[in-house]
Amino acid sequence: MSVLVVGTTALDSIKTPKAENPRLLGGSASHAAVAASFFAPVKLVGIVGKDFPKRYIELYRRHKIDLAGLQIAEGKTFHWSGEYEVNMNNRRTLTTELGVIETFTPHLPEAYKSSPYVLLANIAPALQHHVLDQMRKPKFVVADTMDLWLNIALPDLLRLVKRVDAFVLNDSEARMLTDDDNTVRSLKKIHKLGPKYVIIKKGEHGSILSGPNGFFVAPAFPLDKVVDPTGAGDSFVGGLLGYLASKGGDVEKHLRRAIIHGSATASFCCEGFGLSRTTKTVAKDIAERVTALEKMIKF
Ligand code: AMP
Repeated sequence: MSVLVVGTTALDSIKTPKAENPRLLGGSASHAAVAASFFAPVKLVGIVGKDFPKRYIELYRRHKIDLAGLQIAEGKTFHWSGEYEVNMNNRRTLTTELGVIETFTPHLPEAYKSSPYVLLANIAPALQHHVLDQMRKPKFVVADTMDLWLNIALPDLLRLVKRVDAFVLNDSEARMLTDDDNTVRSLKKIHKLGPKYVIIKKGEHGSILSGPNGFFVAPAFPLDKVVDPTGAGDSFVGGLLGYLASKGGDVEKHLRRAIIHGSATASFCCEGFGLSRTTKTVAKDIAERVTALEKMIKF
């Protein structure tokens, strides 16, 4: 079964203490779509400008990502630049140039509207709503977000979380949204906003799922070298939803394994700049890390 992914399709300029790489393929939808493509067919909804390099379109195609929903518009592709501190956890946004995203209205091709699994990757909540409005009874909808939308589009975001099955956010965003430093209390408060499942990401410390059957605490795959964590959160949620789509059936039954597959997929993202390492990954590499994670958490 297929996964529909909407989010940003961007050019990322990334600076770490060791290197600087301009105009890499990035964006929440790019990372999530490539991650999901290891498990299931992916339909992409996004927008790029005329400056978007052809080799990036070819990269999507190599991952068999359906591009019927990718608009190519006059103007510049969304450009984000960020800089990491020495510890590689703290990141500072240097610039955000919206370009063609500023006037983006996502129109879903007819064949997209019945996609059973929907990933509303990080983009303005109004656009996430717009995609959802066009869907016909999706089976499972996951939304991701970022601190920016908590600051500038909170009413839209609060309306959105009522409409989704699972809401994914990182620990600092959860603290911000609920005004609570305690993860357990924070999870309870987010459930009250609507979603059946809530997943809080904690970077290198893994993630925690809260749902009708209680908590599931998942580790991140331990890495001895992090080159660039940009997009790890998007890869996590993309891998998770791709895995669920590959299994079909009862979501609850597969959700914990899906989270572990998300963790394993995201670990590859961190090992190279942009999507460079992820795109060299094959399904077998991910399966090996899933097995390794399974061993690590068995007791
Ligand atoms: P992550 O590291 O998982 O937080 O995701 C980083 C990705 O988010 C980068 O590839 C950026 O292009 C993208 N991004 C940065 N700012 C925004 C924004 N305001 N809206 C949507 N995506 C963004």
